[in-house]
Amino acid sequence: MTTKTKIPFFNGMTTKTKIPFFNGMTDKNTNYNMIKPKIVKKIVVKKEEKKKSDKPVSEKNKRTYNLIKGMHDILPKEEKYWKKIFHTAEGLAEYFQFGRLDTPILEEAGLYVRSLGRGTDVVDKEMYVFEDRDGTKVCMRPEGTAAAARAYIMHGLWNNPQPVKMWYWGPMFRHDRPQAGRYRQFYQLSYETIGSPDPIADAELIIVAYNFFQDLNIPVEVRINSIGTTEDRQRYKTELINYYRSKRSYLCEDCRQRISKNSMRLLDCKAEQCQPIKEEAPQIIDWLSEASKNHLMKVLEYLDELSIPYVLTPTLVRGLDYYTHTVFEFYATGLTTETAQSALGGGGRYDLLVEELGGKPAPAAGLSLGIERIVSTIKAFNEQNKTTWSGPTVDIFFAQLGDRAKSRVLKLLNELRRGGLKVAFNLYKSSLKSQMELANNYKVPYTLILGQKEVQEGSVIIRDMESGVQEIVDQKKIEAVIKKKLHKD
Ligand code: AMP
Repeated sequence: MTTKTKIPFFNGMTTKTKIPFFNGMTDKNTNYNMIKPKIVKKIVVKKEEKKKSDKPVSEKNKRTYNLIKGMHDILPKEEKYWKKIFHTAEGLAEYFQFGRLDTPILEEAGLYVRSLGRGTDVVDKEMYVFEDRDGTKVCMRPEGTAAAARAYIMHGLWNNPQPVKMWYWGPMFRHDRPQAGRYRQFYQLSYETIGSPDPIADAELIIVAYNFFQDLNIPVEVRINSIGTTEDRQRYKTELINYYRSKRSYLCEDCRQRISKNSMRLLDCKAEQCQPIKEEAPQIIDWLSEASKNHLMKVLEYLDELSIPYVLTPTLVRGLDYYTHTVFEFYATGLTTETAQSALGGGGRYDLLVEELGGKPAPAAGLSLGIERIVSTIKAFNEQNKTTWSGPTVDIFFAQLGDRAKSRVLKLLNELRRGGLKVAFNLYKSSLKSQMELANNYKVPYTLILGQKEVQEGSVIIRDMESGVQEIVDQKKIEAVIKKKLHKD
């Protein structure tokens, strides 16, 4: 379905275009051809309208706008963290052969209700659900695994060699209570392995995440548990409910509700009054079948093999219905701040999800990491260790003096970029002093200087930033000379 709308264009011009709507979305990135603006007609701005828009700002309504609660902007100063995290994730995906998957932000609400289950906080309290213009009940994805399973089924990926390994990165939406490290829109990075019951898949995901944290210099602890099969859990839940019922009067309000609604989440409770009860609660490990125990042991053996430290955590259950067998979470270690209290990521096996969503049985495992929390952790470590993360590195700085030099520098910058050199510059500063300060901040070994005289002569000054020695070089030879000096030839 498409809807016709007018998009405000440039100074009173409008463009008529068709915007693809929900049914027209694809699993790939938006098809930009579909929304390419087509200028139909120019509208001349009437005199009266023009007058109105010319009024000084002070006479207009000066309302400013804030963010919606729980949302946040990611400003350019954050870029160095986000870029490094993305590149680390991408590099690991390539090495471990996970193919990139992109699914839409909007999905049918039923997909998530079915996957995560009623009684979970995400479905009952946090999901952004609304009726689309055609009456379809849609939601803004609260996580990505259900969508990955939908894509696996819908695109017949079970026909490919199994397992199918995919990774994705993107915003997720949960109408949670905002607090430090908890947003209503946040980014997740995920890896999914669909189509193998082998414990090596669980171990491989943990290894990918462990490597990821190591590459970012974040020491982490892996907490791990097994919640067995549905049958194991059914037997265990009976025992757990009986135990918690006998302690009902000591429980927090949420836990009283959880007894009948989502008993496994009793073990997730952070309320102080419930901690002693949780400590004495029956442990699922004692209710696992032989096969479930063997699965967990095998995963642990693989981790031992790689000397990946883990902590067996009997209370770790993860909140969603689709998990079976192995569940795990990652926590930063060695941090004294509050940041260390929240999980940086987690995952586990979801052997029944694909079948539950109408596909052929395809046992699977996945892992999701929260980017905002990883960024805060990196910053917390930097603060604790009094270290900083430098921004992108550049090879040289290019300074200019005077109008003619400015336009020539633009041309030369383009040539140097094509030659593969990373050049820093600032065309909005005209004094040499301030440009040299910038060059010092970038810690470049050489600065190019172009003034009126050099423009006329077709030359450029190369200044060695350490010794202060300057030499004059033909503009045509800059690239070659600099590459030689930087040993990039
Ligand atoms: P989950 O599967 O819900 O455990 O989410 C995986 C990871 O995503 C968590 O360990 C967090 O790092 C991150 N995450 C989950 N919910 C939020 C949120 N509301 N705000 C920020 N990060 C979140």
